[in-house]
Amino acid sequence: MMDRRSVLLTAVVISTVIFFCAVTALHQIGGRETPKPSKLSSVTVEVGDYGSLGYTSMKVLLEGEADSYSLTLSGPSKSPVGTAFVSSSDMADQKESVLLPMVSAVERFTPAEPGTYTLVIEDSAGNKVYENCFTYAGANLLVESWGVPEFELGESGYYLVNLSVTVSNDGDLSTYVTDVKVAIGEEETASSLADPAEVVILPGETDTLDASFYLGPFGEGTYSATYALRRTDTTLATHSTTIQIPEPLPVNQVLPLRVSFIDVGQGDSVYIKTPAGRDVLIDGGKRGMGDVVVNYLRNQGVDDIELVIATHPDADHVGGLISVLGSFVVEEVWDPGFEKDTATYRDFVTAVKAEGCPFLHPHRGSAVDIDPYLVEEILNPPETLYSDSNDSSIVLKIEFGTISFLFTGDIGAQVEGDILAEGFEVSSTVLKVAHHGSKYSSALDFLTAVDPEVAVISVGADNPYGHPAQETLDKLASVGAEVYRTDLCGTIVIETDGTTYTVSTEK
Ligand SMILES: [Zn+2]
Repeated sequence: MMDRRSVLLTAVVISTVIFFCAVTALHQIGGRETPKPSKLSSVTVEVGDYGSLGYTSMKVLLEGEADSYSLTLSGPSKSPVGTAFVSSSDMADQKESVLLPMVSAVERFTPAEPGTYTLVIEDSAGNKVYENCFTYAGANLLVESWGVPEFELGESGYYLVNLSVTVSNDGDLSTYVTDVKVAIGEEETASSLADPAEVVILPGETDTLDASFYLGPFGEGTYSATYALRRTDTTLATHSTTIQIPEPLPVNQVLPLRVSFIDVGQGDSVYIKTPAGRDVLIDGGKRGMGDVVVNYLRNQGVDDIELVIATHPDADHVGGLISVLGSFVVEEVWDPGFEKDTATYRDFVTAVKAEGCPFLHPHRGSAVDIDPYLVEEILNPPETLYSDSNDSSIVLKIEFGTISFLFTGDIGAQVEGDILAEGFEVSSTVLKVAHHGSKYSSALDFLTAVDPEVAVISVGADNPYGHPAQETLDKLASVGAEVYRTDLCGTIVIETDGTTYTVSTEK
């Protein structure tokens, strides 16, 4: 028998069952299933370099039986590094059909700093099905070498400083470097990396960072220097040392540029005293003119010659250089590398070898540095020499302020055209007329492009070649050049402060 209490309890139980059934039915009518954790069969986490920028990524591979999972990776600061939602349809290519409805998914995250990261995976119903922690040591930059700064004297006591820093990363995260900053004494750089502006250092890799910047002005002396390797505003590593600043040339000691076209009869010889006080000799005339050149240089107070340029191997250019090499300490010699089988050229090469200095063969576009106050450019010969020795002449342009000189050796009109075709800016204040004024050189379009105010012809009186040709003189006149000839004027000296110039002649 049931009493009233039992009946009531039974009714409550029945009602509850009915209620739950109804709720369940309603859920089923709504198409929703009972929330229940979905099985996650495997989770694999790998760390590697996956990103296109070289940043370390954490790669998560997972397989499970739900249609989708959401992944959240939280970093040391507890804020999420990234969240992802993966579903079987997203990862169709990785879905293993035999295991349906399993999903196999890959997701990548990029941790930015060392520390402990937490990966949480939830199924589509919001159930936490996975949680685990991973620790990264981070990027560990080791500066293997801070390099030795090289100083290139610029204008007004400023230096271009070049520095190479070698860095390795033995951590497990990539990092990037944006700045190499150097403070020397009170002078702090505008920091920079040469190229590219941002360098990624991968785990296990070593990289050399080239930085260059202007610093100064400095006086000679010993300074404390502080180096810093930086990522945007973060200093990654620092280093302190003392460095020696070489003696700069005070501004008031910059000399005028003086170019002397030495009268060596039929031949070429040009002596240049540069603004930094260096001595440069282009050609030396014939062998018999060697003493004339040597005496001229001695009278100018030359004791050693920083650079001798033999434009090409012909006797009226290299002959006199043999005496010059025997009389002065010569620090460097250039020629085009055109080997001519003549006694004069062989003796010249022997003299260069006896000097024991660098013997270089610059060509069109070679980077050369004759004097920090000059802009220099090699316009000829091309890397593959012409078959003709004259055409293979070294052609040099120098600029000092707004005044420029073009030295053309003995090139012919064809080479003049090639130089124009290469797009060189040939316009010059002073032109050393090619090949002693030969009619086979000095094409009108070349002279028009050079547009010289002064044209110098180095030539011997009554020479058997008919140099200079009347047509060359006519063309020079037609472009408005004032012509100076060594056969008529003797030695011709042009001096300039970079703004104005004077021409003086021996006769
Ligand atoms: Zn010549």
